[in-house]
Amino acid sequence: MAFDPRDIYDAAALYDMWLNCQSCPKTFDFEPNRPIGLDYYHDIGQQAKHDGWVVAEQVDVERPDEESYMVLCSHCAAQYGLTAGNARTAAAPAAIEEVCQAMAMAEQGQFAA
Ligand SMILES: [Zn+2]
Repeated sequence: MAFDPRDIYDAAALYDMWLNCQSCPKTFDFEPNRPIGLDYYHDIGQQAKHDGWVVAEQVDVERPDEESYMVLCSHCAAQYGLTAGNARTAAAPAAIEEVCQAMAMAEQGQFAA
């Protein structure tokens, strides 16, 4: 399995760099055992999904062009009656594609040197 920009967990991990619960101080504390890159964020996203964190896209009315994610730890998600799911967007958001491409190019640069 590799990074999937349409998987909202992967996208949120990449875009936010880390996952913080929005209704309590909890941070998703998981360090993949691999170099930082797309697969690194993929591991974080999938582990968060596995651990029951809930991630959903939300629209920030003041910044409609930017991606924004609602992130809740498993405890808070349960309080709201939410469960982790296979949230997938039909198409990867443009902002995520851009970060992906930049990251992929940086990775290539690393290995080409
Ligand atoms: Zn929480």
